[in-house]
Amino acid sequence: MNKTFDVVIVGAGITGLTAAALLAKSPQSNRLRLTVIDAAARPVFSADDDVALRVSAVALGSAALLESVGAWEFVQGARVGAYDRMRVWDESGHADSSAALSFDAAEFAVPQLGFIVENVLLQQALLNVLDNSDAELLFEAPISALEENGQKYRVAIENRNFDADLVIGADGARSFVRKSVAISTRDWPYGQSAIVTHLTPEKPHQNTAWQRFLRDGPLGMLPLADGRISVVWSTGQDIAEQALTATDEELGEMLSAASDYVLGALTVAGPRGAFPLVARHAEKYVLPGIALIGDAAHAVHPLAGQGANLGLQDAAVLAQVISTALAKDECPGDRPVLRRYERERKGENAQMMHLMTGLNRLFATDSTLVRELRVIGMRLFNNSGPVRDRAVKVALGVGR
Ligand SMILES: Cc1cc2nc3c(=O)[nH]c(=O)nc-3n(C[C@H](O)[C@H](O)[C@H](O)COP(=O)(O)OP(=O)(O)OC[C@H]3O[C@@H](n4cnc5c(N)ncnc54)[C@H](O)[C@@H]3O)c2cc1C
Repeated sequence: MNKTFDVVIVGAGITGLTAAALLAKSPQSNRLRLTVIDAAARPVFSADDDVALRVSAVALGSAALLESVGAWEFVQGARVGAYDRMRVWDESGHADSSAALSFDAAEFAVPQLGFIVENVLLQQALLNVLDNSDAELLFEAPISALEENGQKYRVAIENRNFDADLVIGADGARSFVRKSVAISTRDWPYGQSAIVTHLTPEKPHQNTAWQRFLRDGPLGMLPLADGRISVVWSTGQDIAEQALTATDEELGEMLSAASDYVLGALTVAGPRGAFPLVARHAEKYVLPGIALIGDAAHAVHPLAGQGANLGLQDAAVLAQVISTALAKDECPGDRPVLRRYERERKGENAQMMHLMTGLNRLFATDSTLVRELRVIGMRLFNNSGPVRDRAVKVALGVGR
């Protein structure tokens, strides 16, 4: 009889739950005993609640992945915004100038460029799938220790231990798993924080994702289904602190000015939060018996809304590698198996991280020369045909 393996996923964020759903739905699922552990309470989405503060721009490729496990239908049936245009422009120009970048779903023959979905809704959709599987789900169960135990790892929560052939660390940017197995990271602090809130714009958002590059950092405005916009404003620490303590009226004025009134005056219509920004990359994604995915492995600047999408791609590749290994009777925790995952994802994530860091720096400059070159570069990019096509397809998650 074929051997059965124990896989413990630490972290029930979007990444960990996607990995769990893919494994639970894989043809080899009967050979895995799957446990998902999270420190937080089980997330619950309710359509009666206001749109949650944390939303993600979900690329087409990620939506297709969620569809493949049966989670997307629930997302679409609940509430989801779609955007069919993107406008990117520089502080020194206007949103409708020839140097502004503009992408339209029609020119790429797709119905939309992506979706705006609350993180909690994505989690709920994936939990619905897992509730109908054999996976064990444990919430309010922070892991307190992770130690080698012969050929396995022992995962300890308050009153239980699990011996796992493979521990998947999907426990976010400050990963306990990563620290416990002494995988170091390279960190590049941006000196910026992201202010997040929802606002009602004076003019309709036109189902467009707007991004204005300012010297202190980019301002992203994502269209919500109810007509509001969700703002991610990456800015210097001083301004971020001011934004956090400002009245709603003052914050509305700050953001209206930062957006160059492209949607008219903006009125704050939701709570606010701040996230310190850092680029972080784990030196290794795998050790025998350990694999890191999502923010546990890499944190990127939110300027192109790629963080969650990269995590979903990690989950997809890891689940595929595990499934293939099981079909060949290999243990999913073996290093050669896990290296296949690391080889496929680490370089790709590094490229995206450096691209985001480079873009953020390119726009955060006082140099007149760099500013002029940037405007010329954006015009060239606009007219670059295949280069532009390829870049957009990567952003949509439908090309490489
Ligand atoms: C302001 C901002 C805007 C963003 N916008 C976008 C966007 O538009 N599009 C996009 O793709 N990405 C976006 N991102 C990035 C995206 O939110 C993250 O990349 C993504 O949420 C990471 O998911 P994750 O599952 O890897 O980690 P997390 O969401 O951090 O989940 C980790 C989970 O692990 C659990 N955990 C932690 N420690 C333990 C422990 N010791 N024991 C048990 N459980 C533990 C936590 O409770 C949590 O549930 C944005 C990020 C920021 C900061």
